[in-house]
Amino acid sequence: MAVERTLSIIKPDAVEKKKVGAILAMLEEAGFSVLALKRVKLSKEVAEGFYAVHKARPFFGELVQFMTRSPVVVAVLERDDAVAKYRAVMGATDPAKADAGTIRKAFGANVGENAVHGSDSLDNAKIEIAYFFPASEVAPQA
Ligand code: ATP
Ligand code: MG
Repeated sequence: MAVERTLSIIKPDAVEKKKVGAILAMLEEAGFSVLALKRVKLSKEVAEGFYAVHKARPFFGELVQFMTRSPVVVAVLERDDAVAKYRAVMGATDPAKADAGTIRKAFGANVGENAVHGSDSLDNAKIEIAYFFPASEVAPQA
């Protein structure tokens, strides 16, 4: 299985609940290395750009409002098969439908406030990583 990188965002709801450490611990336990990490308050423009693929969806305004209401923690994660493995650890978009043991089951409130984001393909992971981190801020595993 190829080593991949994916982008994680710990969303405002989980940061507000002080679950950053717990979520990073779950990720490290699941075999991910954290290659880059920062806490940032997204501007409306940055959030709209990040979720541009959803701009025609009815929940777009609500999503941008949520993602900009307080800081998020953005990370680059690496392991074999990282994109699919991280989606599995995150759980379903709606926490009520997420499997036991997943991050969204543990910390998500509802389909909008669902604790974490994860890239949905390797191509999008590359785009999303570059959206937040210049190459100089991603430190490869020794
Ligand atoms: P993400 O892209 O954040 O990792 P996802 O890939 O599981 O989540 P998407 O379909 O890409 O789900 O939706 C992006 C985000 O938009 C969701 O994580 C959630 O915060 C929000 N969202 C999705 N569906 C709804 C909805 N029906 N009502 C409100 N917000 C929603
Ligand atoms: Mg998505």
